[in-house]
Amino acid sequence: MTERKVISLTGNRKAKRVPNVADDAASALALPVFEPGWVWLVGAGPGDPGLLTLHALNALKQADIVVYDALVDEAVLQFVRPGAKLEYSGKRGGKPSPKQRDISARLIELARTGKRVLRLKGGDPFVFGRGGEEALALVDAGIPFRLVPGVTAGVGGLGYAGIPVTHRDINHAVTFVTGHMAGGTVPENLDWPSIAKGSPVIVLYMALSHLGAIAQLLIANGRRAGEPVALVRNATLKDQQVLETTLGSAAADVARADFKAPAIIVIGDVVRLREGLDWLGALEGRILKRDPLNARTKKDVG
Ligand code: SAH
Repeated sequence: MTERKVISLTGNRKAKRVPNVADDAASALALPVFEPGWVWLVGAGPGDPGLLTLHALNALKQADIVVYDALVDEAVLQFVRPGAKLEYSGKRGGKPSPKQRDISARLIELARTGKRVLRLKGGDPFVFGRGGEEALALVDAGIPFRLVPGVTAGVGGLGYAGIPVTHRDINHAVTFVTGHMAGGTVPENLDWPSIAKGSPVIVLYMALSHLGAIAQLLIANGRRAGEPVALVRNATLKDQQVLETTLGSAAADVARADFKAPAIIVIGDVVRLREGLDWLGALEGRILKRDPLNARTKKDVG
């Protein structure tokens, strides 16, 4: 593999030689050198490899071992350097998933043997990804780490369905909620009345199995049963599926469509924009509706 000398833009006085990354832009940016004994906690994005960051690509090109999660798409792993090891850390073949403690211990163990350890997680490591827990364990063990944020499913995944998480005519706030607590129950310790009242758009992660209960809680706290809801399964991947429904009928529609995880769910009027912004659908011939919120008519009348 060729190497090229790079000049750091970030003021490092010592110019370092880094392995030639696939992309010239990445090299020109003088992306960091992955030192032995370090752990890099990297977000892989929601699936489409094109959504990897240059930092993620740079990490994949240098790592000795990649410890990856269930939600990391295989296509992303093709960028590892030849000879690098891949270690799966998710649930497999009906076996229970390894305990978080065990994963952190494994990262520490690998780093202590002088490996360049890439911990690769779906989406962004710090968004419902336990990245903070793993990073704290590393700090506790005295292992140096770097964080590479990723495109989170609750923003980028919805974007691939043509749904913006904020839109000036609709919402000035958005709430990200996990639908699943460690014990597998609906998160009842959340302040649902406040969320229902204060957040016009709610994005739910890991919520498919509790969607009915969550919808009931929101309706009981004042949200309309007819409020639009969209679910995006395998967001950004080739087999992405979108189900549009309403709060009142979400659970029944999910059951009827046999809609499976992983799915990202968005509740709120931003879903109405999809008629105008489903850019992936448009590539397959969908005619996009102009002015899906009828904002122009409203303004003309008002
Ligand atoms: N750290 C991740 C989230 C991990 S929690 C991130 O930032 O995206 C796992 C949940 O994320 C899933 O249950 C699902 O709700 C959502 N998710 C992640 N990737 C997804 C994808 N490609 N399509 C749909 N949902 C996804």
